[in-house]
Amino acid sequence: MTRKGQGDLLTLLLAAVTTLLIEMALVERKFALFGGGFGQSQTLDTPAETVLFLLGAVGAHALLFGLFFLLLRRLHGREYDPLIFRFNLLFFGVAGFLAALTAKFELLSYFSDAVSFQLIRNLGGGSLFDAFLFVLNEGALMLIGLGGALILYGIVVVRLRRRGNRTLLPAGRSQLRWAVLALAVAMPAIAAQANGVPDARDGLRRMTAYGLVNRLLEQLTDFDRDGYSWYSAQIDRHPFDASRHPLALDIPGNGIDEDGFGGDFVFVGADPATPAPKLPAKRKHLVIIVLESTRADALTQRVNGRPVAPNLAALARAGSSFPHAYSHVGFTTASLKSLFSGALDPRVGDPSLFSDLKANGYRIGVFSGQPESFGNISAVVGMRKAADIFVDAETLAHERAFGFAAKGSLLVDETKILAEFDRRMGDPGPWAQPTFVYFNFQSPHFPYHHPGMPDMLGVDPLPRGDISAANARRVQQTYWNAVAYADSQIGAIVARLKALGTWDDTVLMVTGDHGEALFENGFLGHGHVIEPAQTHIPFVLNVPGLSSDRPLGLSDMRSILLQALGGAPAPDNDAPVFLHIGAVDTPAAIGIVEPGGVFTTLALGTEEIWFSDSGRRARYGDLNGADKARADRLVNEWARQRWMRHLATRKAARSSP
Ligand SMILES: [Zn+2]
Repeated sequence: MTRKGQGDLLTLLLAAVTTLLIEMALVERKFALFGGGFGQSQTLDTPAETVLFLLGAVGAHALLFGLFFLLLRRLHGREYDPLIFRFNLLFFGVAGFLAALTAKFELLSYFSDAVSFQLIRNLGGGSLFDAFLFVLNEGALMLIGLGGALILYGIVVVRLRRRGNRTLLPAGRSQLRWAVLALAVAMPAIAAQANGVPDARDGLRRMTAYGLVNRLLEQLTDFDRDGYSWYSAQIDRHPFDASRHPLALDIPGNGIDEDGFGGDFVFVGADPATPAPKLPAKRKHLVIIVLESTRADALTQRVNGRPVAPNLAALARAGSSFPHAYSHVGFTTASLKSLFSGALDPRVGDPSLFSDLKANGYRIGVFSGQPESFGNISAVVGMRKAADIFVDAETLAHERAFGFAAKGSLLVDETKILAEFDRRMGDPGPWAQPTFVYFNFQSPHFPYHHPGMPDMLGVDPLPRGDISAANARRVQQTYWNAVAYADSQIGAIVARLKALGTWDDTVLMVTGDHGEALFENGFLGHGHVIEPAQTHIPFVLNVPGLSSDRPLGLSDMRSILLQALGGAPAPDNDAPVFLHIGAVDTPAAIGIVEPGGVFTTLALGTEEIWFSDSGRRARYGDLNGADKARADRLVNEWARQRWMRHLATRKAARSSP
């Protein structure tokens, strides 16, 4: 081999080793694969796991860079300029790889490690286009960086070309081809071995090259094209039967355990339906206040000696407070649909508080600090159709607090919302008619502060750019300050209802659409982990005597509100509260909350069960006795929810022409 050829190979070695070391350092820092750490249940703590991890990581990385080298050679042709070749190798190999890594870790640091397509989609309220705008907002700086790098690349290539150093391709490249081929043959065996060792597998999947190799293997071994293969996180135990695989719908009573959890599913019946109500002649007004991202512990939280939510706490003392209320999904749009419809996953035209109250002669006003078309909320619950007065962050777009265009980022300050209320509903005359008003207050949403929000608690709110795990305590104070601000606006609404003379005839309800993790377990935000911080919400009514200790979800609130307005008593429902991340049929995780606010969760990717009371984590397949029975209550409730959904879909398909 000539000296020139060695130079190419040395450059390849340099590019591959540098990128691998940097990625490993980043992965170690982020996930503590080797060191372990707080809240980190997956570590490489045996020699076998470590060896497997290194084999997979180094092998896949070498394969990726070897292929890249061969491709680049082909693009350069037989007569090539070694300097330009090596520059391309370094620029696209090292700089390109690192740019992709940066983008990946930037997303990870924002969303914690649970980043997924579903989550990004959720941020856009289910709309991919909005999700795209949202990510674009966050990534604008990165795009500028990319532009700068490309300009730099152009300048260097022009300069190198001027030096004119073309030469014939050196001999001896077949050795590299053999090495790449050997790696390509070895990788399926290494990956198969790693798949049986969860800690090694999960660590490896955090590595870019291994992730690509594994994805390819998944595609190649999904023989029945049911989306599951020999290499998926959940292995397809029936690779040639498309009806049996992880997440398959379990058909009750056919003797087959389609999804591989809890045996053949037994359907114990659907939830009791809440029929369209007939309310009494003297109808009370209804005011619903939804506080964005507001946790249940807002009721008792104090910062710098000051209560965070004195108005909410006063309502709870004089009325009813439900200590175990939960968001089923932990994100905005599905939560609001459940609240208004009384269903886990309603569709357009299903019953909702808006149609219930419209049919009972109510005047309806909507005053929302977010766009209610976000994720189709308004259409699914018939909001805009029913509303006599409709004000949201889209109709008030000129008032929004940030300059972002994406729906997920629109926010209008509470004082502007209340000014609209004064203008449109501040006249006592029309209140002779029963009236339903829905307020949505957005201040507690990330980044927990916007221009014009006062410092209610003496915390000196953090700017968006300083929000990080290292600042956890100040992030929490900034969040509580935003909740305190929203709470002060609850007080403003109560004062207005009193001034209008309608307070004594009004059912007022306050809840949160979901909670918010504030780095307590290393996470920030909502909708990505089933845990109390992200799902436990306040549920407070100004009507005494309704409180109940039983866990309930947002979908139970419609019937309780109709009861408070004089309708039929809310049906008894002793099913646990069902929680999920991702779609009900293809969730990333599921959970139930049982009496006492006790969580049982299952991460479908790892089959790991978590018991909140003991803190224990175990693989589903390793459980027995009472633990197994408890996990199966979760699995059966999931199957029941899926089966109800399946029946509803079938009914809808039959009734449409
Ligand atoms: Zn929300």
